[in-house]
Amino acid sequence: MKHCETLLQARYIITQDAARTVLENAAVAIDHGRITDVGPRDAVAYDAETVRDLGDVMLLPGLVNAHTHAAMTFLRGVADDLPLLEWLEQKIFPLEAELTADIVRASSLLGFAEMLSSGTTACQDMYLFEGDVLNAARTAGMRCLAGEGVFLFPSASCKDWRQGLELTRERARAFSGDERLSVSVCPHSVYTTDEEILRACRELAEKEGLRLHIHLAETRDETQRCLAAFNERPVARCERLGLLDVPCTLAHVVDVTDDELDVLASHPLVAVSHNPSSNMKLGSGTAPVPAMLARGITVSLGTDGPASNNQLNMFTEMGRAALLHKTDGRPTATPAQNVLDMATVAGARALGMTEAGRIIKGAPADIIALDLKAPNMRPMYNPVSHAVYAATGHETVMTMVNGEILYDRGLFTRFDYAALCDEMDGIRAFVRKKAGLI
Ligand SMILES: [Zn+2]
Repeated sequence: MKHCETLLQARYIITQDAARTVLENAAVAIDHGRITDVGPRDAVAYDAETVRDLGDVMLLPGLVNAHTHAAMTFLRGVADDLPLLEWLEQKIFPLEAELTADIVRASSLLGFAEMLSSGTTACQDMYLFEGDVLNAARTAGMRCLAGEGVFLFPSASCKDWRQGLELTRERARAFSGDERLSVSVCPHSVYTTDEEILRACRELAEKEGLRLHIHLAETRDETQRCLAAFNERPVARCERLGLLDVPCTLAHVVDVTDDELDVLASHPLVAVSHNPSSNMKLGSGTAPVPAMLARGITVSLGTDGPASNNQLNMFTEMGRAALLHKTDGRPTATPAQNVLDMATVAGARALGMTEAGRIIKGAPADIIALDLKAPNMRPMYNPVSHAVYAATGHETVMTMVNGEILYDRGLFTRFDYAALCDEMDGIRAFVRKKAGLI
């Protein structure tokens, strides 16, 4: 009999393979962090070191959060119900000026705990003190593509943008070859940078072979500011400065014209991160996702930060993405399978992980299990429908990255969650004082 390290057995497996096969009474064999076999339970018979019959569950590829600021958990609920620029410049930036590396490490770990416990195995993060975000991801075991936010003005972690790019270069080299952690170049947006910064970001990405990640065309206000300052719309600015010619993720892409979508479609290295909760909460508008998909643009899905969502739950995000584009009389827009693709295969592409986002032979063993005994998951006719429309994320009973179980029926296997909660209580007291709440 063939040998493997781990054999997972389940009632259903949503494989996300090329034919989008869903298997019933199936099993996955895992060896050295990779999937070595998947198929009907009888056909995947192995002499395994560990056999886990997970029973009445469905396995899915771990979800990919393509745009987030995990450390912003420390600001969750501190300022709600405001438009983007007022929220950002009057509430968030002043509190972020008080940031420390310790706050970022603990708050990121809380973000990763939330992700792992709701079925997310990989994320693309942009923030400050990103070295501490990466260290927190290492503690949690998450896959994380992280980049230091680069701004025209000083940040809590960098005295100027040059230092931001220097840190990016150093970290990219330090994490080079890491199986789970990597580094991207993150100009924050066109309205918080200038031409020199954007050119330098593009050059660094090209020279070091890094992905680029930027907020783009998030609101009509952003477009107006960009026009007033540079006489150029956000997409045109990125195109002219060559940002679309390197592998990049554009977060939001709400205020765009059809011609601009054609421009994005003509740049095959571009991926969009759609962030429906954040766009709805900040009143930013609705990204034209059906028009993007019709043009073949890679559309991934992200939660954005927990101060503008306020969750890091990709099941919530899938449900909202699936519903948002139907509200104007198009119930056939964004079907469940398309939305699941956004959260898996397209997300993996947006992070540069070409093999991930699928449960197929050779893919990394990033797998989650959802409990089908939950009342909202019964009866079962269509697992993809349940994943997008019925699941809340709290059905997650197991989360595995690289063949390693990181979350197992309520327990985090790599860190002390109770101690983390105590640490976050201390950070809460600090934020309340700084925010003038007490
Ligand atoms: Zn964002």
